[in-house]
Formats: sequence, C-alpha cells, structure tokens
Amino acid sequence: MSESPANVPRVALIIEDEAGIRRFLRPALESQGFTCVEAMTGNEGIAHAATRAPEIILLDLGLPDMDGLEVMRRIREWSTVPIVVLTARGKEREKIDALDGGADDYVTKPFSVLELLARVRAARRYRTEPDDAPVLTSGSLRIDMARRRVSVRGTAVSLTPIEYRLLSTLARHAGRVLTHEFLLREVWGPSSTDQRHYLRVYMAQLRQKLEADPSRPTVLMTDPGVGYRMADPETRA
Ligand code: CA
Repeated sequence: MSESPANVPRVALIIEDEAGIRRFLRPALESQGFTCVEAMTGNEGIAHAATRAPEIILLDLGLPDMDGLEVMRRIREWSTVPIVVLTARGKEREKIDALDGGADDYVTKPFSVLELLARVRAARRYRTEPDDAPVLTSGSLRIDMARRRVSVRGTAVSLTPIEYRLLSTLARHAGRVLTHEFLLREVWGPSSTDQRHYLRVYMAQLRQKLEADPSRPTVLMTDPGVGYRMADPETRA
C-alpha cells in the first residue's frame, strides 16, 4: 500500500454505533490529518470500506445489524487495509478472535487518545513499511538484524537463539500486540502453540537481559490474556 498524494485526503473509516465514541474518535484522527467517514452499522461500514478507500478502519465489535467480526471477515476478503477493533474490557476471547480474523490490533474501551493513536500508527507502519529494516532501535535497545546483534545503552547483550528469535519477532511488529499462539508458532513452530509456559519463561529471561527494571517492563509489555507487544518506539522515552 502506498501513501496518498498530498492533495488527496487520507480517509479514516469509523464503524461504531455509539455516537459518544464517534465524537471522541473524530477529532483524534483529524488531528493526524485524516478525513473521517462514519458508519453506524456493519453494512454501511462495508459499503464505505469498498468505496471510500480508507487508510485505516476503526471497527466496533458490537454493532446493531451484524457481528463486528463478520464485518471484518467480509472486508478482509478483498482488502488489507489496517483495522483496529474497539472492544469492551474483559473480552479476551473476542480480542483473540479479532486478531486471528485479520485485525491488526485492538483498543479496550475506555481508551485514551494517545493509546488509540499509538495503535493506529503501529498498524499503518506494519501495513505500509517493508519489514526488512537492517537495524531496529527503540529507546536504549538496538537490534542489528543482519548481524543478529543486540545491545542496550551501547553494551552488547548475549541472547540464546530462541531469545533472539522471540525478540526479533516482537521487534518486527513493534507497537502491535502478538497473540500467544502467533508467537509460539513463529518461534517454536506449529506443534508448540499450546506451550504457553515457554513464552512466560523466555519473556522473563528477555526482560532480565533488556529491561532496566524487569518487574516494571517498559519495552516488552504484557497484554493480559492475549499476548505480548514491544512498546511503540515513537511513544517510548
Ligand atoms: Ca457498539
């Protein structure tokens, strides 16, 4: 997907039946240069997705006419547009189903503008930028993908091959949540997707090696019940 030319408005599509949430989303997205198109039902949202060429879709999962997951399935039949879903607190299964169904990320209501914009930025970065950057930096962490070298504040850190594979997977998707299943499949292979304790052990090891205070991580974040994410590099100190 390429960036729009400067004279064509970038469209953000909001599919949400709650007027209060739409009123909250619109100025946040407009502050980032988007023109907002609003849909109050799933059918209306699918129609706008097909005709208005949005660069990002914010999709509520509880819509009056159709399950939000079904809206996403329909849009994903022909579009790779970044989709961030809006979910209610405590609906971990729904979040995982949305991510498995092709959502790029989610925010849990109530969410802050900063949180929303970080998710939108990470989803668009993942969809629009090639993931072959030779060096990834994030705060004091530096990952040289070509040489497989990792350093923190200029000091080399020695990682095992599994630790490195887990870290580089999170780094390639920095800012986006990755589900337990996705990480287990990427790092340990398709037969290991139920071995969640592997992740707990290796995330703890990585935090010991990379975080200033492993008990209060600022880089390798937990999304409870869903998975892990490397903090968005643009919102980190
Ligand atoms: Ca709703």
